[in-house]
Amino acid sequence: MVVGDVTTSTDVLVIGAGPGGYVAAIRAAQLDLDVTLVEKGEYGGACLNRGCIPSKALINGSELASEAGQAEELGIYADPTVALDEMISWKDGIVDQLTSGIEQLCTAAGVNLMQGTAEFADENKIRIVHQGEGQGSESLKFDNCIIATGSRPIEIPEFDFGDERIVSSDGALNFETVPDELVIVGAGYIGMELATVYSRLGSDVSVIEMLEQALPSYQEDVASIVRKRAERLGVDFHFGYTADSWAESDGEAVLTAVPTADAAHDSDIELTADKILVAVGRRPVTDTLSLEDAGVETNAQGVIPTDSRCRTNKEHIFAVGDVAGEPMLAHKGSKEGEVAAEVIAGEPAAVDYQALPAAVFTDPEIGTVGLTENEAANEGITPLTGEFQFQASGRALTANRTEGFVRIVAAKETERVIGAQIVGPEASELIAEIAAMIEMGAKLQDIGSTVHTHPTLSEAIMEAAQNARGKAIHRQN
Ligand SMILES: Cc1cc2nc3c(=O)[nH]c(=O)nc-3n(C[C@H](O)[C@H](O)[C@H](O)COP(=O)(O)OP(=O)(O)OC[C@H]3O[C@@H](n4cnc5c(N)ncnc54)[C@H](O)[C@@H]3O)c2cc1C
Repeated sequence: MVVGDVTTSTDVLVIGAGPGGYVAAIRAAQLDLDVTLVEKGEYGGACLNRGCIPSKALINGSELASEAGQAEELGIYADPTVALDEMISWKDGIVDQLTSGIEQLCTAAGVNLMQGTAEFADENKIRIVHQGEGQGSESLKFDNCIIATGSRPIEIPEFDFGDERIVSSDGALNFETVPDELVIVGAGYIGMELATVYSRLGSDVSVIEMLEQALPSYQEDVASIVRKRAERLGVDFHFGYTADSWAESDGEAVLTAVPTADAAHDSDIELTADKILVAVGRRPVTDTLSLEDAGVETNAQGVIPTDSRCRTNKEHIFAVGDVAGEPMLAHKGSKEGEVAAEVIAGEPAAVDYQALPAAVFTDPEIGTVGLTENEAANEGITPLTGEFQFQASGRALTANRTEGFVRIVAAKETERVIGAQIVGPEASELIAEIAAMIEMGAKLQDIGSTVHTHPTLSEAIMEAAQNARGKAIHRQN
């Protein structure tokens, strides 16, 4: 039942309080604009509640358990017991702390917060439907709008998230007990991170992937290091298979996977599971906004195309974060949120993705930024690369984590750094140094002649840069 319909107005309306939306709202308020942020669920969006933060909490918890149980080489003997419910409560505490922090930051910045589901009425007005029977709705006029409604997990036919056996990543971050057998459909970064968590916690994990490689968006020599380590943790991979159907049998789910069209094998496989995690990607949340009433266009995938200033096809309506397409990463959404707010305030802001880093928190981690060697060549740039293996790093040896390497890509002609791929310990942190170097237009020599603390993992970056110039000290050039 709709109770009353009062219309108010705001300079800047932001829809969705994930890392795209709340950052846009705070920046717009800092720029003295009158800002209203509408959120239908929890502050912090997918990132804080169902994504980056809860997954990293479980990744760290499971790493601690696994390392404590496997440290005999270092003379440490332990047999840890994992109470998953307690680990989940600890994770929920972190989420609560961060989400209430977001609300406080928005309020302190002067952002007007509204709870409810927003839907366009026309190109300058939205209707906000409040939750719960009889809670009513209201309308809000806006001069500018920033759409930041994020994304949701993609479902596949026959695997319905409504069934208790079938979970998306949302469900897999809240299991009550560690599943004995977990089948994961999809070897992208979410599937691989959760395969790492549950294999470390003791599940028998199987992964089904249509393609012939885990982490297919990464280079083979990077992804294969992570796959081999996952196999050593006990993960069983089935490449070239599509999850087709499943049925309940003797108190278990039995999943049937069929070979994909160009797979080398030709017979079906059956896998038993307590839980089946479907992690085949995410789709933008644009179908519930009545975008057509505002005249905002989407592409066939539901993504809202934007220009470098985050504008949609409507001059005064912006889209940031996952709704604006790949890469669906929290920091990409936040950067776009800042840019959209600054453009609305009349500042000369624009997005520039040449130094956009990405990380996968598997074991070992992956960190990438900028161009690979092939991408550089495709853009007509002759690449010059340098590498350094963690096997030769004193710090990696003392951490007992020697898998992986740092690879730096530069333009041969200028020696300007244009990309890097790191696979190994702390790759998610190490990549930040190279992102900063790319942002500043640094050359190989700038990295190579920067004195790095010894003994640290970051020395591998210095050595890789020197290797590209034939001058590494701790490896043959
Ligand atoms: C398991 C997992 C792990 C991840 N790990 C990482 C990681 O390590 N690093 C990383 O960078 N990214 C990671 N991501 C991706 C990251 O979470 C997203 O890229 C990021 O949350 C996108 O931010 P956003 O602001 O665009 O949208 P979201 O965070 O999805 O927020 C959108 C918000 O809009 C609200 N909303 C939607 N429709 C409406 C409406 N009509 N009215 C009002 N409110 C609405 C939603 O309730 C939600 O709160 C991970 C994602 C998952 C699922």
